[in-house]
Amino acid sequence: MAIKVLSTELANQIAAGEVIERPASVIKELVENSIDANAKTIKIHVYEAGRKLMIVDDDGDGISKKDVALAFKRHATSKIIDEHMLFRIATLGFRGEALPSIASIANVTLETAFKGEVGTKVYFENGKQINIDAPKRKGTKVEVSELFYNTPARLKHLKLDYTENAVILDVVTKIALAHPEVSFTLSFDDRERFTTTGRDDLQETILNVYGLNTAKNIIPLNVETTDFKISGFLGNTELVRANRYAIITNLNGRNVYMPKIQTAIIDAYHGFIAPSRYPFVVLNIESEPSLVDVNVHPSKKEVRLSKEQELINALLQNIPLALTIPTFVATKTTEEQVIKQPDQVSKEQNEQIFIELNLHEGTSSKENEIFRFSDHQEQEIKHSETKEVYGRKLRPLVQLHQTYIVCEHDDGGFCVIDQHAAHERINYEKFMLMLERKLKTRPLLVPYVLHLSKSEFNLFDDELLSYLTTVGLEVEQFGSDTLRVTSVPAWEEEYDEKLYIDEIIAMVRESRKVNYEKLRSNVIATMACKASIKAKQRLSIAEMEHLIRDLFLTNNPYSCPHGRPTIIRYTKYELEKLFQRTGT
Ligand code: ADP
Ligand code: MG
Repeated sequence: MAIKVLSTELANQIAAGEVIERPASVIKELVENSIDANAKTIKIHVYEAGRKLMIVDDDGDGISKKDVALAFKRHATSKIIDEHMLFRIATLGFRGEALPSIASIANVTLETAFKGEVGTKVYFENGKQINIDAPKRKGTKVEVSELFYNTPARLKHLKLDYTENAVILDVVTKIALAHPEVSFTLSFDDRERFTTTGRDDLQETILNVYGLNTAKNIIPLNVETTDFKISGFLGNTELVRANRYAIITNLNGRNVYMPKIQTAIIDAYHGFIAPSRYPFVVLNIESEPSLVDVNVHPSKKEVRLSKEQELINALLQNIPLALTIPTFVATKTTEEQVIKQPDQVSKEQNEQIFIELNLHEGTSSKENEIFRFSDHQEQEIKHSETKEVYGRKLRPLVQLHQTYIVCEHDDGGFCVIDQHAAHERINYEKFMLMLERKLKTRPLLVPYVLHLSKSEFNLFDDELLSYLTTVGLEVEQFGSDTLRVTSVPAWEEEYDEKLYIDEIIAMVRESRKVNYEKLRSNVIATMACKASIKAKQRLSIAEMEHLIRDLFLTNNPYSCPHGRPTIIRYTKYELEKLFQRTGT
C-alpha cells in the first residue's frame, strides 16, 4: 500500500484518541488551560454528563486576536519556547494538542479577549475554523457540544451519566485541591456541586469540596526537605476509606499518580488504621520543575520524579509524627464555616456544635452526595462526635463468649467491643508513654546470653547497641558470636523479660535493616498484646466499665495497635435499616 501523510483532521482525531477519553478529559484540558492563563475564577458547567454541552469560563489572560487561529493548530502552544524548556515545565499544558484534538471530535466555540483588545469568537463550520469579532470580555470561555459525534465507538463506550459525572467531579476536585488560590465552581445541569473560595487556603478548599465531616477530621502536614516542599492535610484515624482513591498527591500544581509515594503514605499510616483501610490524604508537593519529567504520557497523569526516595523518607518520618498531634475539630459561625483548634472551643460547645452540624448536613447535602460516596465510602462519616463523648454514652450490658463486650449507646445504637483488642490499645499507649520518658533499667542477676551466627552478630554494631539502650536493653558483645543482655527495663508492671528480649532480637534479625520507629512500635505492640487480658476471661460489669473508660482515654480507641478494630458500632439508623424500619 502506498504511504501517505495523514490529513490534519485524521491526525487530530488520532491524537484525540489518546488525550480525550471521556467528557472528564475535556474538562481537565480546558481547566488546565485556564489555570495556565492565570485565571482566578473558573466556572464549569456540565450538561447531560458532558454529552450535550460543557462550558469552561475563566477570567484569565485571554488569547490575542492574532493568536486565536493558531490555538487550534496541532503542536501550537504558547508554553514552550525552546527544547530546554521541555525539561523544566512549569505549566500544566505544553503539548499544544488539547484544543485541536477536542475540535476534531466535538463542536467547539471559543470566546476570548486579550488585554484591551476587542473580543474574538471562534467556531467551526464543516471543519472550517471561523473567527469573528465578539464583545470585549475578561478571559476565555470555551463551549464543547456533541462530544464524539463523529467517533461512534467512543460515544458507545461512555458510561451512565452518573458515572461520567462522578469522574468529572473527581477531576475537578483534584484540580481544585491542587489550586486553592483559584476559585472553582462546578455545576451539573445547572445544579451547583461545589464552589471553592479561592483564598489560597487548602483547608478551606477541603471544606468546600468534601464538606465538614471531612474538614473536621484532618491534620496539617508541612515538611520541607532539601528538594521538596510538602504541604497538605492528613485524615485522622477516624476518617478512613475502603479504597485508596482519597490519597491525593499533587506535584507542582498537577494531580499525578505516583505509586511509590502512595505506598509510602499507606505505610506511614501503619498501626494507625486497620490494614484493610486507606487514609484520606491531600498533599501538595513542590519541587524544582527540572526534577520532574512530565513528558511520559499524553494525558500527563504519570510522571517521572528524580529524588523520589527523599520524598518517601520525608513522608514515612513525618506522617506518623503528625498523626499523634491532637486532632482539629470544626465549628461553625453564623457567617461562614471556619476551622478552629480544640482549645478554642469548650467541650460543651463542641457537643452542641456537632449535633447542629449533623442535622445541617443530614438535611441539605443528601442530594449532593449522590455523585460522591459509594456504600463503602459512607463509612468514613461514621464517627461524628468526639471519642470521649462517644465513650461516655456507652453502657456495658453483657459479655459474649467471655470475649466481646456488648454495650448500648445513648443514641439508640449499640456496639460490640473486643476486650483483648481494647486492652491492647490501652496498654500500647501506656507502654509508649513509658518509653517516651527516660527509661529506668534494672540489671539482670544472670545475664541473658544469645548465640548468633557471624552475620547476625555483625548486625549488632555500635549504632544498634546504643539504640537498644533506648528500648531499655543493655547489650554487650561477648567473644565473636555471643551477646549478653545485662539490663532490662524496670517497669512497674510485671512482664516477661525474656520475651521482650527475644522479640527485639527477632525483629532485628528478621528485618536486617532497622527501622527504629517501626521496631519501637512493634516491640511495644507485642508487649501490649502479651500484657493484655485475653479472650476467654470473665469480666464483671465494673471491670467492663473500667476498660471502656480507659479505652476512650487513648488517642485512638477505634483500633488496636496492629490496626484491627476494637469496636464494631451500629447506630440507631443502621439498626433500623437492617430491620427495614427506615421511613416508617
Ligand atoms: P497547550 O495547553 O498544550 O499549550 P492547547 O491546545 O491546550 O495546548 O492550547 C493551545 C494554546 O491556546 C495554549 O498554549 C494557549 O496559548 C491558548 N489557550 C488555550 N486555552 C486558553 C485559555 N483558557 N486562556 C488563554 N489561552 C488559552
Ligand atoms: Mg492545554
